[in-house]
Amino acid sequence: MSAVLELSNLVKRFGGLTATDHVSLTVGAGELHALIGPNGAGKSTLINQICGELTPNSGSIRLAGHEIMGLSAADRVGLGLGRTFQITSLLEDWSVRRNLGLAVQAREGGNFRIFDRVMQRRAIWDEVEALLAGTPLAERADQRVADLAHGEKKQLELLMAMAMRPRILLLDEPMAGLGHVESQMMIEALRAAKGQTPMLLVEHDMEAVFALADRISVLVYGRVIASGSVEEIRANPEVREAYLGEEDA
Ligand code: ADP
Ligand code: MG
Repeated sequence: MSAVLELSNLVKRFGGLTATDHVSLTVGAGELHALIGPNGAGKSTLINQICGELTPNSGSIRLAGHEIMGLSAADRVGLGLGRTFQITSLLEDWSVRRNLGLAVQAREGGNFRIFDRVMQRRAIWDEVEALLAGTPLAERADQRVADLAHGEKKQLELLMAMAMRPRILLLDEPMAGLGHVESQMMIEALRAAKGQTPMLLVEHDMEAVFALADRISVLVYGRVIASGSVEEIRANPEVREAYLGEEDA
């Protein structure tokens, strides 16, 4: 089986609190795996262990078959673990396109296999167009970043992360702080990105999760209580009681 990311029995304790309690899950090639659960369930704690900001008490994290538990966050990025860029790393006076071009170029560094400079440029701009294709940001590609709305910057962050061609992308609540229309646009951007890169998506917005996920895992008090397709999770009585029910309250 070719799991891109494989978590086994991850335990993280904060004093007496077990924030992730023997969490096991996998993200397969081409899969968008959504992680949902109420506030305080341990979702961010889990993401932070994967990217290396927190050290688990026990368990294992394998990226493309390699154990990455002991590695620094930077080394994990080097092995293909992708996260969204901070908005602050965008060049405000440059256009959306140029920011993306810079990210593609930075990824290649001196390693471009094309030696002709004109061809190199064309390869970069072709890739930028491919990243933008099908996203609401495509229409805004010539705008300066400074002139973008907040939601558009969040879309650009996603595309900047995609430009690094990660093996897997970790997204912790990309819709947070967005209004309804901006969330819809982010869903479109994620839909366009989906399939190019496997993703582990933590998201509170159930509309987004149900629209995008191939598989959903539900975390409650640090434990995965269910894992399955959108239909299976929607129909699961334990999930409805523990989580979805709260939406009706
Ligand atoms: P979620 O992202 O699902 O809302 P978190 O992972 O942020 O949940 O938090 C899970 C639990 O761990 C919560 O009870 C939270 O208060 C606790 N927690 C998170 N980070 C820390 C920390 N650095 N120190 C102590 N407790 C923490
Ligand atoms: Mg969180």
